[in-house]
Amino acid sequence: MGSNVNHEERAARAWPVLVSAAARGREITYGELANAIGVHHRAVSWLLGPIQDYCLEEKLPPLTILVVQAGAGRPGGGFIAWDVGDFDEGLRRVCKFDWASMGNPFDYAFKAGKTQEALAASLVNTPERSEEVYTLVRARGITQRVFRAALLRAYRGACAFCGLSFPEALEGAHIVPWRSCAPHERLDPRNGLLLCSTHHRLFDADRLTLTTDFVIEHHDAADSEGEYSAADEHLTRRLHGRRATVPERHDLRPRTTYIVRRNKMR
Ligand SMILES: [Zn+2]
Repeated sequence: MGSNVNHEERAARAWPVLVSAAARGREITYGELANAIGVHHRAVSWLLGPIQDYCLEEKLPPLTILVVQAGAGRPGGGFIAWDVGDFDEGLRRVCKFDWASMGNPFDYAFKAGKTQEALAASLVNTPERSEEVYTLVRARGITQRVFRAALLRAYRGACAFCGLSFPEALEGAHIVPWRSCAPHERLDPRNGLLLCSTHHRLFDADRLTLTTDFVIEHHDAADSEGEYSAADEHLTRRLHGRRATVPERHDLRPRTTYIVRRNKMR
């Protein structure tokens, strides 16, 4: 199995098979799923990965619980989305959920044959074409992942505020928030910052803000709110007046228009 196999494209093909199994209220074996989409049965656990991740991140019922080993009648070892000791309840939740109304989140891989990483790379290469990518990637959870992947590339994998570089703790933060964005702005890397989880929260709460010169400001620079712990000082007040680390490429840096719009919302 080469590394050029597109598991997301296979997940796109498996999705409707699982949704129809859920509608019928019954499990499907690894072999049956493999046959239905024309792959080797050993490849099934790989393509279930993106589906399982998607359900976990979007807090959906554990759709991949439907795929069971022929003998045991239970999911294989890669299944972590639900306590298999309570298999029946997981199955019940999956079968009563209205999957048909949400569409196939992996459609983008079907239509364009691209992975999320490839879409993220194209956003970084040509940020002005983010609307094209957005029309391809409709599901919100996938959009967030592609946005984050693009910002990881643009910011070379470090928080723009503090430099933290553990990928597990890095998130794509919107400058103009998602709910206030026009569709094409939701995937525009110039409407984003790569931030660690803590700085993402503090930025969303306006405790830390950004000027159009990319200078970080703390909401209580005058120190009128009293007691700050050493950690508060380190994570917030110390950064006041410092310049955020933005991408080297000017065309990937936060756009002034987005920063101005955000700062008006405060
Ligand atoms: Zn940070």
